[in-house]
Amino acid sequence: MTVIESNATVETFHELGISEEILKGLASMGIEKPSPIQAQGIPPVMEGNDVIGQAQTGTGKTAAFGIPVLERIDPALNSIQALILCPTRELAVQVSEELKKIGKYLPQIKIEAIYGGDSIERQIRSLRKGVHIVVGTPGRVMDHLERGTLNLDNVKMMVLDEADEMLDMGFREDIESILTDMPEERQTILFSATMSKPIMAITRKFQDDPVLIKVVRNELTNQNIEQVYFEVKPQAKVEVMTRLIDMHDIKSLLVFCNTKRKVDEIVEELQLRGYAAEGLHGDLRQQQRNNVMSKFKSGVTTILVATDVAARGIDVSGLDAVINYDIPLDEEYYVHRIGRTGRAGMSGKAFSLVARDEKFRLRGIESYAKAKIEKGVIPSFEDILGVRKARFVDNIAATINENDDITSYEDVLESLRHSGYTVEQVIAAMAKKIMGVQKNEYADGNLAWEERRSDRRGDERGDRFGDRRGGEKRGGGRFESRGGERRGDRFGDRRGGDRGGFGGDRGGFGGRNEGKRGRGPAEAGMTRLFFNLGRQDHLQPRDFVGAIAGEANIPGTSIGAIDIHDKFTYVDIPERDVRSVLHAMDGNTIKGKFVNVDVAK
Ligand code: ADP
Ligand code: MG
Repeated sequence: MTVIESNATVETFHELGISEEILKGLASMGIEKPSPIQAQGIPPVMEGNDVIGQAQTGTGKTAAFGIPVLERIDPALNSIQALILCPTRELAVQVSEELKKIGKYLPQIKIEAIYGGDSIERQIRSLRKGVHIVVGTPGRVMDHLERGTLNLDNVKMMVLDEADEMLDMGFREDIESILTDMPEERQTILFSATMSKPIMAITRKFQDDPVLIKVVRNELTNQNIEQVYFEVKPQAKVEVMTRLIDMHDIKSLLVFCNTKRKVDEIVEELQLRGYAAEGLHGDLRQQQRNNVMSKFKSGVTTILVATDVAARGIDVSGLDAVINYDIPLDEEYYVHRIGRTGRAGMSGKAFSLVARDEKFRLRGIESYAKAKIEKGVIPSFEDILGVRKARFVDNIAATINENDDITSYEDVLESLRHSGYTVEQVIAAMAKKIMGVQKNEYADGNLAWEERRSDRRGDERGDRFGDRRGGEKRGGGRFESRGGERRGDRFGDRRGGDRGGFGGDRGGFGGRNEGKRGRGPAEAGMTRLFFNLGRQDHLQPRDFVGAIAGEANIPGTSIGAIDIHDKFTYVDIPERDVRSVLHAMDGNTIKGKFVNVDVAK
């Protein structure tokens, strides 16, 4: 196997020997300079080699395989010549859209996305009309193969995109079966953000003398992303988040959390506080998702709250900041998450809100990502008020200087003065109203958690945290008496409520995963669960993996065999997670279908 490991690039796509039509397509997308994975990946793929391409999310892997795929299609042949597999329908749609844009000046090349959740009859009709490139999810591709509506006999290029994610979602068998069904004389290309044993097993089995291209990760060591964590009580996370947003004047923000339920909770909290936030998770229909995304891209919504899986499918980068509302269960997710900010020479911020029982995961992330995540001080109410005031003053000054028609408002002050108010009072009242700061409801001293002796056990960095309470107390006394009580009420009803609480009831969770850093399912100690949903409900293994991993807060990789029948499904779960899976899933829904689950008899 040839291994190329670097992040070198070339200046233009022209140097890579790309045709005029595609150069024009790229130019129309505003894409000028090849990214490293493109500079290194395009030539070997064009030459017909089997290729493994590894580069972080957002580095342009789609075009790295998409350009050569488009170059190698013969539009005169009326057959499918390239098959691209993607983990989710969002990614399948995104990849096919990107290929259509790159191939804008090659209109004879027909590209079709096929994925679950879309009418299969419509897809069959499109396929019958003649398609050159199929972009599909493994489940739906299998479905078409079984129905005989997808003919792969003439496929000469096969691409596994986001291979790590596909394997995580339980598509291994589908992928192997598709690859086995295809012509042996073909080029097999695999792209992935990460490499793992199962991926290497697939490449050994299905690739022939592959060229491995590994773009060395430099985003993390690169100082563009400021990584800071805050020790926050679970119930104070939204408050701390809004303080950070205000403090840093964040205008585009992606908030990540581990479960769908959290997404809804956080969005609601943020909206209640007047922030333009919207949520994104797997339960949304495509149309709703598109709405959310277009509002975010146009700046109507400034905060997007998403689960990792949902965020995978969206195309946003270069954000002001990413906030980890909770700490991901998988270190790699952290890397993916923060990669959404600080791209292309811009600086970005990655803030992590760490509850006590998440602290150990943060240490895992630091060593995995070889990053230094600094401990931050939660901005005090006074800090927030200070920056807001300064911004208000700037704003007013700008309005006076730029706007020539404020004269018609000048009598406002006159009538207020008439009523006996001073200029100072009038302005202070306006500032308060316009700035909308209501943070004094919250006690500064009650946001961070208090370190216990036991937190420091085994923490070689104990000393680093010794000064933890230094800044957080600033101004605390002043607001404590008033805020402390109110806050208690506000969150008190949540905790005991039937919405699942604010994290406290999941508290024991992290501990069980401690020390387990590897991927791959546990072999022994699995328990079989019986779910009342099956094929009839249009569910696929990934739906179960997604729902269980997301809702019960366990890594998708720890879920074992999934045996789908027409009316029910068996899912193997590590013994130690059985209780939390039952708790999280029973009475919940998967893709809108009501779930009954129990230990299988
Ligand atoms: P990945 O698959 O590596 O996560 P994508 O292929 O989805 O990344 O690309 C991420 C974004 O970057 C897309 O919006 C894409 O259009 C854009 N992009 C791709 N290549 C380039 C390039 N060479 N220069 C600028 N933007 C690019
Ligand atoms: Mg991709």
